[in-house]
Amino acid sequence: IIAKGQAEHSVTTTCAYCGVGCGLKAEMKGNDVVRMVPWKDGGANEGHACVKGRFAWGYASHPDRITRPMIRAKITDPWREVSWDEAINYAASELRRIQQKYGQNAIGGLVSSRCTNEEDYLVQKMVRAAFGNNNVDTCARVCHSPTGYGLKQTLGESAGTQTFKSVEKADVIMVIGANPTDGHPVFASRMKRRIREGAKLIVIDPRAIDLVSSPHVKATHHLKLRPGTNVAVLSALAHVIVTEGLVDEAFVAARCEAKAFDQWREFVARPANSPEALEADSGVPAAEIRAAARLYATAGNGAIYYGLGVTEHSQGSTAVIAIANLAMATGNVGREGVGVNPLRGQNNVQGSCDMGSFPHELPGYRHVSDTLTRTQFESHWGVTIQPEPGLRIPNMFEAALDGSFKGLYCQGEDIAQSDPNTQHVTAALLAMECIVVQDLFLNETAKYAHVFLPGSSFLEKDGTFTNAERRISRVRQVMPPLSGKSDWEATMALANAMGYPMHYTHPSQIMDEIARLTPTFAGVSYDKLDRLGSLQWPCNADAPSGTPTMHIDTFVRGKGRFLITQYVPTDEKITRRFPLLLTTGRVLSQYNVGAQTRRTANTEFYAEDVLEIHPHDAQERGIKENDWVGVESRAGQTVLRATLTERVQPGVVYTTFHFPESGANVITTDNSDWATNCPEYKVTAVQVVRVAQT
Ligand code: SF4
Repeated sequence: IIAKGQAEHSVTTTCAYCGVGCGLKAEMKGNDVVRMVPWKDGGANEGHACVKGRFAWGYASHPDRITRPMIRAKITDPWREVSWDEAINYAASELRRIQQKYGQNAIGGLVSSRCTNEEDYLVQKMVRAAFGNNNVDTCARVCHSPTGYGLKQTLGESAGTQTFKSVEKADVIMVIGANPTDGHPVFASRMKRRIREGAKLIVIDPRAIDLVSSPHVKATHHLKLRPGTNVAVLSALAHVIVTEGLVDEAFVAARCEAKAFDQWREFVARPANSPEALEADSGVPAAEIRAAARLYATAGNGAIYYGLGVTEHSQGSTAVIAIANLAMATGNVGREGVGVNPLRGQNNVQGSCDMGSFPHELPGYRHVSDTLTRTQFESHWGVTIQPEPGLRIPNMFEAALDGSFKGLYCQGEDIAQSDPNTQHVTAALLAMECIVVQDLFLNETAKYAHVFLPGSSFLEKDGTFTNAERRISRVRQVMPPLSGKSDWEATMALANAMGYPMHYTHPSQIMDEIARLTPTFAGVSYDKLDRLGSLQWPCNADAPSGTPTMHIDTFVRGKGRFLITQYVPTDEKITRRFPLLLTTGRVLSQYNVGAQTRRTANTEFYAEDVLEIHPHDAQERGIKENDWVGVESRAGQTVLRATLTERVQPGVVYTTFHFPESGANVITTDNSDWATNCPEYKVTAVQVVRVAQT
């Protein structure tokens, strides 16, 4: 499986999986990849790669790839292979028909974090210029949208503050709601190395992740909280820091808004925010919180790393703000070894957000209601942009169900598998009149589609990805697109057919346009990327070689802003009928909904989703190792195989969502973050019973 002969040449590119963004070399024989090896000069990985990246080429040549465009009038009809022209013209005529019948805002588009910056930029441009509305959203909606919101509100920029290398200078590392060993393996190795050198580790997670007690590292503190209580724990940590005189007063006085800080200090000092008061909710002993707070606040360099275990909650944005508050209060921002570091899930989720893929923001996180920003894009694009934000993904579903949203262009995102409450999603998809899916495979969403445009893998196109440390890296074409078109060419063809002309001949021209219109990308070009290997934005006249560490002398917004973060328990409560809390995550060898990794050698390592259940809860239910169990929530039910483990605490069960057969999202609910609608994937009240199934 691994080797197909001697390589004749190699092409340097970037891994298309997780937010580490490792540089890889595709070793080639003709148009065939012989193997993928880590690029030793890769800025994010310095010569390392994980089991996903090394096998990444497997799915590109998988027999499931669809390489011809297809259309059908009804989803019950068989697919009909057609030419690119016929498929594009059919999609355009259907989307235009819908707009004439239901109005300009009755269609929209979804951008993929698996696609390049250039492709993402083009989709949002097509929606705004050719569709004439702001109904564009990205899969960041369901993962790190609270990061964008929370960090912008407090620090002034919707991105992490550090470079990965920064961890090598950290004295105390706090990992909240993230499992780097499985989710960000190459960065996890770097973090573990630093811990072995002596850095202390605090893990805040309902589950005993590998970092808590692996053969090589041990956490000094594991705050094993109940799912849904991040903000309670963060409030309690802040309470200790404020009431025990651990605030970095000089940093706060020099760098932060005084009035906002005073209000925050008064709020967190209240007895209701003490570890003792919040112990019953969070389940974390107050003494452990006090010890962890002291350790973080007195570290020379304290660095916080967090993941979807923070963002995918009804208080996801509140928790991100609370993390930024902690870092500012302790002076842990603006130098190496510290910072607020979201571990972004997908390879280009940072980039898809940077490129204006949100319904309220144009490229560079500038609000559509800002007249100056709009005017800049309008004069360059030759169109009028609506000043009101468009629909978010969940709003699109709701509008579809009430009959006002009828057409969707969905690039590289499998919403029927990845979004919560599958029944709700599929009902919305069934209510639409034209769904255009652009993907490598006939995924779950394609079951509801009328047009299928074959996508191109990362091996088949040029472009850039931006990783979790804002590092822009080149993606280089190693073989021609199997379908004859790269994704950016298909989007361009659709925009042209919709009546908005686009004439790019290479993705570098799209990047040049991004640089002209986006201040944080003003200094980015393919030439410079080829010379320097990669660039961390902001990259402009002030920072021509990029910005590894942000907020050094001042915050991007000027003064850092503390915001009050009141803990509000989630509506998702356990009851006698649903007595356990389900939380979700990933494994090392699989990636997200598994569309790619399930079609590589990785499936040999992990071939099905399983339900982790504590032996005590299993015994109560008569469940033994490997039994099939029914998992039922208020939203739906599914069947999984059980595995008994003390990694999960009593009362909590855990699964992954890599396989459509297990359908984890059949049971997740519609609850979402108050500010961004990011789904509350991490807390679902369920019942688990043994079932007789094979
Ligand atoms: Fe690197 Fe992530 Fe790809 Fe693994 S999956 S090789 S850690 S980018």
